[in-house]
Amino acid sequence: MSVKVALTAHELGLKSVGKIHHNLSYDELFEQEISNDEGAVAANGTMMVDTGKFTGRSPKDKYFVHQKPSFENLAWGKINKAMAPEIFDELHAEVLEYLSGKDLYVTDGFCGANQKTRKPVRFITEFAWQSHFVKNMFIRPGASELDGFAPQFTVYNACKLVNAKWEQHGLNSEVFVSFNIEKNVAIIGGTWYGGEMKKGIFTMMNYWLPIQGILSMHCSANVGKDGDVALFFGLSGTGKTTLSTDPHRKLIGDDEHGWDDDGIFNFEGGCYAKCINLSAENEPEIYNAIKRDALLENVVSNDDGIIDFDSDAKTENTRVSYPIEHIDNHDPSLKGGHPKNIIFLTCDAFGVLPPVSKLTKEQAMYYFLSGYTAKVAGTERGVTEPQATFSSCFGEAFLPLHPTAYAKLLGEKMAQHNVSAYLVNTGWVGGGYGVGKRMSIKATRACINAILDGSINTVEFDQTRWFRLNIPKSLPGVDTNLLNPRNAWIDKEAFDNTANKLAGMFIENFKKYTSNSDDFDYTQAGPRV
Ligand code: ATP
Ligand code: MN
Repeated sequence: MSVKVALTAHELGLKSVGKIHHNLSYDELFEQEISNDEGAVAANGTMMVDTGKFTGRSPKDKYFVHQKPSFENLAWGKINKAMAPEIFDELHAEVLEYLSGKDLYVTDGFCGANQKTRKPVRFITEFAWQSHFVKNMFIRPGASELDGFAPQFTVYNACKLVNAKWEQHGLNSEVFVSFNIEKNVAIIGGTWYGGEMKKGIFTMMNYWLPIQGILSMHCSANVGKDGDVALFFGLSGTGKTTLSTDPHRKLIGDDEHGWDDDGIFNFEGGCYAKCINLSAENEPEIYNAIKRDALLENVVSNDDGIIDFDSDAKTENTRVSYPIEHIDNHDPSLKGGHPKNIIFLTCDAFGVLPPVSKLTKEQAMYYFLSGYTAKVAGTERGVTEPQATFSSCFGEAFLPLHPTAYAKLLGEKMAQHNVSAYLVNTGWVGGGYGVGKRMSIKATRACINAILDGSINTVEFDQTRWFRLNIPKSLPGVDTNLLNPRNAWIDKEAFDNTANKLAGMFIENFKKYTSNSDDFDYTQAGPRV
């Protein structure tokens, strides 16, 4: 047995340290969470915590330091906001000062299942539950790998510290989540939400990998008995986690992957599933993954620790993180070969896009660059109109480089490995939000099964009018009336108006890809009005 040598203040970049809890076991974290009064234990033994004021990420407070040489690579704008190096240095010093002398949790993990390109990352946090969260989400090093673990990137999470001078600094708010590529450091202040660490390192992977010619992707992945790999791209809430967790296919990962010359690999060591309306009947694997070592966030429970999964009293974004081992049918290599099928998931609250369509190569590029989904508007002031979201590559919020850098790599890899692409609408059918209803998980799964077992290639196809999408005329396990969205709407005129409106939004959004880059002018593959 190797002796665990305590980390020094110097090694952590701090002036002094209190008690350093370095790479605690799940049981030790559990004890810390209890003794710090950070959460409560659900009836089945799962730790439940509240994530504080923020129950989601704070994208407007995310920055990159604007400095040489990375500034030439970054796609600066609303998503990748610039922070002057002097301001970063000032905040960094404040964070280090703040954390000095405190009791801290230090957690080491890898991002990336491929030994050649994985990144050793260190997280320094004040809460045990934040350590628990990153332990769940990142790849847990083995004992020998922890021996002499040399982080190549460090996240200092001073979540209780706010930036009082944010106005003077010209920043968005007192919250800051700031990345320094040259120094290999990120600093967080003002938000406790763990997702900043997860998606923050994902963002860094989206910087590091494409520069080496490796594609990084916001997608889930699983593999069938014959080794056929499927990728599921999609924005939040479209079904990446729900649909990749498939009893008949091994789960590779539910959110972030890379694709290199050997195939695909997960970045993470765990999953982060939505809990709202979760049921054992509809999603048994995820439901059963909620047990000791998993970490529930912002769920509501009664005095007996029984969770009410239908309650959104704290937030709609209730979540659970769990190590991937909690899904029995996972692939422990966290890797797979080159994908056979790519599925773009969208949750179309307008009810216009078909439940499943097969894309041409050009359509695949068009829908990838468009990155469409639609949110159901909240209940504020009686707004029921869905809100269209276009986020390039189904993850623009996490892309430091220009979206075409990722699209180019995807296009090349799809051509090289002869990959088929499909668009699957997990959203509304038979009418938009308020009139129609959401596709059942069962019906969506039937569409996906038809793609994955190849039976979709044996049926006849039709084409839709506005979007000119190729749709199957029938599929086993799916109500034929649903397959053509126009047929599923009772009010055909309303459908035509809505389809026309949505097509217009796609066209408007895609203009940014037609102005200065002929390589990515896939306008012809998009809808017409
Ligand atoms: P994130 O990027 O935020 O993790 P995600 O793409 O992984 O999002 P999921 O966690 O899979 O999204 O969320 C899909 C949600 O929609 C789940 O709560 C699921 O129960 C629900 N749902 C309802 N109908 C469907 C359907 N037909 N297909 C997929 N999910 C559905
Ligand atoms: Mn997910």
